[in-house]
Amino acid sequence: MALLEVEDLVVQYYTDDGVVRAVDGLSYEIRAGETVGLVGESGAGKSAASRAVLRLLDGTGEIVGGEIRFRGRDIRELSADDLQAIRGNEIAMVFQDAGAALNPVYTVGEQIAETIRVHEDASDGEARNRTIALLDRVGIPNPAARYADYPHEFSGGMQQRAVIAMALSCDPAVLICDEPTTGLDVTVQAGILELLAELAAKSETAIQLVTHDLGVVAELCDRVLVQYAGEIVERAPVDELYYDPKHPYTVGLLAATPRLDDDRERLPTIPRPAPDLVDPPTGCRFHPRCPYAEDCCASRRPSLVDPVSGRPVDGDPETHVAACLEYTGDLEAGLDYEVQIRDDADSNCRERKQQGEPR
Ligand code: SF4
Repeated sequence: MALLEVEDLVVQYYTDDGVVRAVDGLSYEIRAGETVGLVGESGAGKSAASRAVLRLLDGTGEIVGGEIRFRGRDIRELSADDLQAIRGNEIAMVFQDAGAALNPVYTVGEQIAETIRVHEDASDGEARNRTIALLDRVGIPNPAARYADYPHEFSGGMQQRAVIAMALSCDPAVLICDEPTTGLDVTVQAGILELLAELAAKSETAIQLVTHDLGVVAELCDRVLVQYAGEIVERAPVDELYYDPKHPYTVGLLAATPRLDDDRERLPTIPRPAPDLVDPPTGCRFHPRCPYAEDCCASRRPSLVDPVSGRPVDGDPETHVAACLEYTGDLEAGLDYEVQIRDDADSNCRERKQQGEPR
């Protein structure tokens, strides 16, 4: 059964350049114990969607449509007190910049203990003991001594571990991790990923992992949601997405992901920048960048369908669905398939068809 259900979520930001529709009709659900990746380029609206779940948008952002239900209760309708009871306690968030998430004038241990005291009415001694156990659990060496350290005395990786410890302090049902390894060096990243994988394996905590890194998703996730320009364009179990992607944007992301056995001198890139969401492209939002675009793609907005049968999306979140009107490629070449920069989408697409190449 779904713990968290997001339905037709719309988030707007009000900027000097106009209204940015950062999230536009997003729907997904997360069940207990599963890890779901939300992937896409910067500016796809992943962080906005995640922050909206806890109503943590900054002053310029607003949820203007849709529902966010946690255990059946609409988070948009909750009073400030009810929302506070859910934040941190039931749904916790790990932000990208751990240094900014920690208060520099309090010790790391005291900040985690304070979270426990606020949410669980624990005594000072209980909160301290539980904090030390949490620091130990997330791999901080000598946790009793490190309890009294200030954030600046922790390395970047240790700060991220401390923030994860804080997020876990009340044993949340859902943990939202927003780019938790961005900015960390590779070995520290590996340690954080290992920690999250262990969490996912050993607890019933559901994890929503927001990232632009498909390598991270491959290591951790059960299912993947690919977000482009505020919309989900593909949703699939992780293996299906990697070995049989059904949306050209996903193909482009996968093609641009380096692999250990790579002998390519240059990784292919998706042509042109991500669209301006003040004035997004008509029809399929990916059409100005899509190597498979047909004339109809600029005028018809595709919805998520089963890419084989073309049937509309059913209620099963495991069903592989993609929002594409035209692409039927069989990616036997797997990730070696390269999305090429091209000048004329339609003529290039026709050439491919004439040559019998995958569309
Ligand atoms: S083929 Fe058309 S509908 Fe499919 S992703 Fe490309 S532009 Fe969009």
